[in-house]
Amino acid sequence: MRCFEWLSGELEELHDSYLLRRLATIDSCPSPRVSIEGEQKLLLCSNNYLGLAADPRVIRAAMVATEKYGAGAGAARLISGNMPVHTVLEEAIARFKGTEAALLFSTGYMANTGLLGTLCKKGDVIFCDRLSHASIIDGCTLSSARMVRYRHNDMAHLEFLLQKTSGNRKWIVTEGVFSMDGDMAPLPELLGLAGRYDAVVILDEAHATGVLGQGGRGTVEYFGCRSDRIIFMGTLGKALGGFGAYVAGERVVIDYLLNKARSFIFTTALPPAVAASAMEALHIVESEPGRVERLRKNAVTLRQGLQKMGFDVPPGETPIIPVLIGDAEKALALSKALFLEGVYAMAVRPPTVPKGESRIRVTVMATHTDEDIRFALEAFERAGRKVGLP
Ligand SMILES: *Cc1c(COP(=O)(O)O)cnc(C)c1O
Repeated sequence: MRCFEWLSGELEELHDSYLLRRLATIDSCPSPRVSIEGEQKLLLCSNNYLGLAADPRVIRAAMVATEKYGAGAGAARLISGNMPVHTVLEEAIARFKGTEAALLFSTGYMANTGLLGTLCKKGDVIFCDRLSHASIIDGCTLSSARMVRYRHNDMAHLEFLLQKTSGNRKWIVTEGVFSMDGDMAPLPELLGLAGRYDAVVILDEAHATGVLGQGGRGTVEYFGCRSDRIIFMGTLGKALGGFGAYVAGERVVIDYLLNKARSFIFTTALPPAVAASAMEALHIVESEPGRVERLRKNAVTLRQGLQKMGFDVPPGETPIIPVLIGDAEKALALSKALFLEGVYAMAVRPPTVPKGESRIRVTVMATHTDEDIRFALEAFERAGRKVGLP
């Protein structure tokens, strides 16, 4: 159709700047070894950090719940879609996070847009880390509050902005573990500032839940800095291996969101299978702390190995290991060379990361064996040599 020609023009531009995206198809569970385009590859870009997406107990829980409650909830939670699996999971999440209550959302994207869009009002100011996830930015845009962005993890800059910006209520939004860089927010300092400037902290724990701290409880547990100024958001689709998301905090916050958050109210409840498998995953995380420990160990080994080879990999402790390249074309070339060496690791390019900061975002899993890690390092060595990196 002639009227869509402008679209192909834009797509061509993306292609010519090495920014065009396409889907790859994984024809197996997101386990350490996957079948992709008919070949076995070592998976190094899944957020299934603890390997729970393929855990037989988690799969079983989904099947049992499906048999008892059906394939779908059939309506929104506030109509007729609320089932025991949802409520029990919310109570378990609240216990896990040490909060009064929790509320399920269908996705982390919807949790962030619902949370920010509902709580932050006209006249408020949202102070937001410059590297925040797209769902946080969209949540800020959706709210009528003013958004002010501070330099990544720069507490002096945040304080400067808190000082000079006046507004009704102040909100500070940050990720506990940053999705593309794998570094952590300096939570103790951030909470100090929140206290001094009377701000509430919204903490996105998408990559910290099941990953950081004692028993994978998250950033607060890691730093040992409790505070009643935090509203937690996290996902069930990453380390917990399933799908969905939560907001956890004081009861009154949860009651308010249940009544007002449009991305909670106007959407179908999570399928019972999804809620039940998250419940089982949470149970496994709590009863098998060795998984979180193994994840940490794998992350350290892989990160140090890549650093030793001379790749530009910043220090850190999380399973998100960015191999910084810069140029999108070069990142793509390394990703392709890795694929030929038997490793699937994606090149992450703008707009997901800032211009000139393209990278291979390597993520490690608790279920990677020592042999897998060795294989990964050897593949990086050979692929790097092929494309002239590091
Ligand atoms: C993945 C992610 C989300 C969105 O979660 P989904 O459940 O995948 O929609 C939100 N915030 C951050 C930091 C994320 O990495």
